[in-house]
Amino acid sequence: KRNMLIVRSFTILLLSCIAFKLACCFSSSISSLKALPLVGHLEFEDVHPASKDFGNRYQLLPLAVLHPKSVSDVASVIRHIWMMGPHSQLTVAARGRGHSLQGQAQTRNGIVIRMESLQHQKLKVHGVGAPAPFVDVSGGELWINILHETLKYGLAPKSWTDYLHLTVGGTLSNAGISGQAFRHGPQISNVHQLEVVTGKGEILNCSERQNSDLFHGVLGGLGQFGIITRARIALEPAPTMVKWMRVLYLDFAAFARDQERLISSDDDKFDYIEGFVIINRTGLLDSWRLSFTPEDPIEASQFKSDGRNLYCLEVAKYFNNEDKKDVMNQEVKKSLFELSYISSTLFSTEVTYEEFLDRVHVSEMKLRSKGQWEVPHPWLNLLVPRSRVNEFAKGVFGNILTDTSNGPVIVYPVNKSKWDNRSSAVTPEEEEIFYLVAILTSAVPGSTGLDGVDQIVKRNQRILEFSEAAGLGLKQYLPHYTTRHEWRSHFGPKWDDFVRRKSRYDPFAMLAPGQRIFDKAS
Ligand code: FAD
Repeated sequence: KRNMLIVRSFTILLLSCIAFKLACCFSSSISSLKALPLVGHLEFEDVHPASKDFGNRYQLLPLAVLHPKSVSDVASVIRHIWMMGPHSQLTVAARGRGHSLQGQAQTRNGIVIRMESLQHQKLKVHGVGAPAPFVDVSGGELWINILHETLKYGLAPKSWTDYLHLTVGGTLSNAGISGQAFRHGPQISNVHQLEVVTGKGEILNCSERQNSDLFHGVLGGLGQFGIITRARIALEPAPTMVKWMRVLYLDFAAFARDQERLISSDDDKFDYIEGFVIINRTGLLDSWRLSFTPEDPIEASQFKSDGRNLYCLEVAKYFNNEDKKDVMNQEVKKSLFELSYISSTLFSTEVTYEEFLDRVHVSEMKLRSKGQWEVPHPWLNLLVPRSRVNEFAKGVFGNILTDTSNGPVIVYPVNKSKWDNRSSAVTPEEEEIFYLVAILTSAVPGSTGLDGVDQIVKRNQRILEFSEAAGLGLKQYLPHYTTRHEWRSHFGPKWDDFVRRKSRYDPFAMLAPGQRIFDKAS
């Protein structure tokens, strides 16, 4: 008993010493940070908003939030921590819009950099009327603002995400994929140049020609090698209108075959190709009718899925008001004629280009008004090789995944040739086509049932285990792993380069600790 008492007292003493040392460390860190001359400012009190994200499952409280007003603010803070040496416990997380799912933009007791504070730097459109226009933007700029600004010049970026209220730095750190990626590649394939602050506090410009190792590393690099403070993004002439269509299939293989046929065709049949899965949902076609018009209303009203899974191909054709609409409609009709969807299920609508691109924001507003936006989002995003996608669909849709009422399940193929293999982004190996499968389920807060976060996480785990057991060779998009072994296997042949770049550009592993790939060096 006496020995136990001694051990307990010793442990308490040790813990107190550690706590005291940490407190001393933090207070000296705070005072030295406060002394930094900045154009923006460091916030030490109101830091709670930076401890949350869209996933709504992980919460790490930072020591401070930097609201930078210039790239030199970002560089000063990072250089300051770098100069403290490897023993400093401080880490730095760039936070774009904080739409990560598992705390990727968070840091415990470190500095969060609120990248949106850099937004005041003006967007500059160049090359209007020239063959290759582009726009220079801040890394904290929202894609929706870029759309609004570039449209003033009749231009727009080529590649998007489905949702535009995300930052440039946030999506370029992953890939940035949507229904245009089959033609233009992901957003990371449409960037000419970046300005980056490395983990040593250096401000470097990089491109294909200048500091190309850093350029390729940062694109899809999960924030590990530097903070993107500016980006030069390729533009193209923007259309004014979009013809947006949906057709249904009962057979996954037929649906996927048509998607692949469309993305592989050389002619410009459609400008956007996506799709989604509908499991155990009723009344869906009725709700579509509010915005989409059935080609044949009588036939469409008679269509019954009888509880079977449905696969909805979603395509869009861009056009301008001055174009000959009957010619465009004829072309669309011809392209649709080659597909094998259920003929009574063609639905279409026409919207402006801006409405089309910002479509998810409309759903966001609806969900927000019902208090259903800020709920936990245990999402699972996968990249599935083409040769195994039917097997994946058979094992998952309607089996492991038995309902899509609580969020969409998006499925569409992209061409690997449009991805630059020199970037850090990881895709399934050795296949020219792979599918994005995004299972975007929202959880009901507090529920312990099938719609609760724990059950959804377990279901996601079953999908991963099924895929692993079947050897499907898929990769996670917006990856989340907990062990070094899993990260190594995720990156596969790219791992060695990833580690090399980390030790070159962020040797103390200070940046983006929320990705949980590297431990802070000490
Ligand atoms: P954050 O969550 O703030 O940051 C993400 C990661 O990038 C963090 O590790 C952070 O530290 C790092 N980071 C942030 N800014 C910088 C910077 N300037 N420099 C370096 N590192 C930085 N993705 C798609 O590809 N296609 C989609 O269609 C799509 N749709 C989505 C729809 C919704 C509703 C949501 C919530 C997400 C969607 N995503 C999609 C995922 C999205 O692209 C990523 O979650 C992205 O990281 C979010 O951007 P963010 O600005 O919120 O980044």
